Amino acid sequence: MIVTRFAPSPNGLLHLGHAYSAIIAHDLARKKDGRFLLRIEDIDGERSKPELADEFRRDLEWLGLDWYEVPAQSTRIESYRAAAKRLEELELLYPCQCSRAQIAALAVAKGPEGPVYPGTCKRAEIDLRQPVALRLDTDRAIEQAGALAWHDDVLGEQSADPARFGDVVLVRKALPASYHLAATLDDAADGVTLVTRGADLFQATHIHRLLQALLGLPVPRWHHHRLLLDEEGRKLAKRRGSPSLSDLRNAGEDGSLLAEQLRAQILPAGISLEKA
Ligand code: GLU
Repeated sequence: MIVTRFAPSPNGLLHLGHAYSAIIAHDLARKKDGRFLLRIEDIDGERSKPELADEFRRDLEWLGLDWYEVPAQSTRIESYRAAAKRLEELELLYPCQCSRAQIAALAVAKGPEGPVYPGTCKRAEIDLRQPVALRLDTDRAIEQAGALAWHDDVLGEQSADPARFGDVVLVRKALPASYHLAATLDDAADGVTLVTRGADLFQATHIHRLLQALLGLPVPRWHHHRLLLDEEGRKLAKRRGSPSLSDLRNAGEDGSLLAEQLRAQILPAGISLEKA
């Protein structure tokens, strides 16, 4: 059975880009009698606003979607800890105390998520009484995992190239997991067979595929869809003035009609679909 998911983070209201993403994930599952899941990605307690999760559910209902909701990330901390422990046993994690500014100053390469960590703490004495993040020793992990491939239903067969990320953070200073670790574990735990999300997360899949191999998790397929862009060709963002779904809903707009238009790629003025 095909299982897809929509996994919003409750740190801001949903906009048209989220609606587009949720509709694609919903329809890909429903066309084949599959299951469409909603997972609230609230691992970042400081940035998450619990009341937004209800707002998201109202938005999805307004769009005419139905879903099965799986437990939010904040209830899955133990599974993140267990996976981090497993990676530590494999000697694939090391503690890091560097600040963002230090990394920006020291990094020589740029990766998909910004400056590539130069590995400073791998070679340094770390004061473990201070908060530390845990980083993946990516080269070593690649050595253990061997060559890996993954399949994107839009972009075809891919060979995994996690090295471009450098040593990514898997456990954050104040949180039990980073996005990469949490999302990979959750998709496996939820039985997701087709990970559907925007093309802005395409690169992240290289790391997720590596984590699946290291942790012995099942390998799904992926569907990275094109993004909706604003007038300046940037990804939609509430902070740049893209209307939220709740604004549209509260203004009395018809959500099912909007969903039909998004399906047909009939977009409101000023919004376009990223080029293939
Ligand atoms: N929680 C992520 C976001 O809101 C989505 C992660 C994913 O789909 O893998 O951007």
